[in-house]
Amino acid sequence: MLMTEFTLDEQLLQKIATFTRRPLSSEEVYAFPVILCDNEVDRDCERFSLEALKTLAEMFIGKTGIFDHDPKGENQTARIFDTCVMEDTSRKTQAGEVYTAVVGKAYMVRTDDNRSLIAEIDAGIKKEVSISCSIAHKKCSVCGSDKAVSSCSHIRGKRYGEKLCHTVLCEPTDAYEWSFVAIPAQRNAGVTKGYSPDAVSKMPSDEHEVSLREVTKRLFLLEPALPVSELRPLLSLLGEDRLRALSESLKRLSHKRKQANSPAATKELHILNGYKL
Ligand SMILES: [Zn+2]
Repeated sequence: MLMTEFTLDEQLLQKIATFTRRPLSSEEVYAFPVILCDNEVDRDCERFSLEALKTLAEMFIGKTGIFDHDPKGENQTARIFDTCVMEDTSRKTQAGEVYTAVVGKAYMVRTDDNRSLIAEIDAGIKKEVSISCSIAHKKCSVCGSDKAVSSCSHIRGKRYGEKLCHTVLCEPTDAYEWSFVAIPAQRNAGVTKGYSPDAVSKMPSDEHEVSLREVTKRLFLLEPALPVSELRPLLSLLGEDRLRALSESLKRLSHKRKQANSPAATKELHILNGYKL
C-alpha cells in the first residue's frame, strides 16, 4: 500500500504559500493527495520509465488541476504544491519492476462553492486523475527501438517469451495539467494520460493498429504512388470495423487486378515513407 495521506503542517503550509498572494491558514485550505502517474503497464500497453517518473514529479509542482466533470459547469481548480516518487515494495508491475508512483499533494482554497466537491474528494469519489504531458521518446520494451526513429515488428500486448511487449514512455519534456476524469486508463493508480501534440486523440488499440497497417499495406500494394504517410492519419480515424471492411474490399480489388495481370504491385517497393509494410 502506498501511504499517500498526509497532515497539513507548518512546513507544507509554507510550500503552499509560495503559490498564494498571502500565507493561508490550515482552516482556509483543503489539501489532498493525488496519484498522478505510475510505472505500471496500462490498458494502452504503455508505461512510464522510472526516470520519466522522477522528471514528471519535478515538472508537476505548481501545475493546476481541473475538475472538468463538475455538473454545474464551473471549472474548479486545485494546484499541486508538492510531489514525491513513492515505491510500494510489496508490489511488482507487469514489467517486473517495483510499483512506483508520482504522488502529488494538491490544495484548493475552501469556498462555499467547492464544499460539495471537497466532500466528494474526501469520500474518495473523485480519485481518478488524468495527466497531460509531452514525451520525447517512446521505446519498444522488447528491443528498445525508439518508435519515433524506427519501427519494429513487435506488437504491443503480445508476449515474446516471458516479455510482454509494451511501449516505454521516456524523457518527458513538459507537463501541462492534470484533471479528474471518469474512466482511468492506468489500472492501479486510477490515472490516464494524454500527450501533446496529440493529447486529444485516443491511443489506438493493438487490433486497431494491426488493421490500420493492413489497410495501408493493401493501399500501397494496389497503388505504390499513393502518399501513404499522408493518408495514414486520416485512416487512423476510422474504427476497427470500418478498417477491416476497407481491408477486405482492397483485398478483393487487388485480387481482381492480379487476375488482370496488372503490374501495379511490385515487391521491391515494400518500404515507403518509413512505413514497413
Ligand atoms: Zn521492438
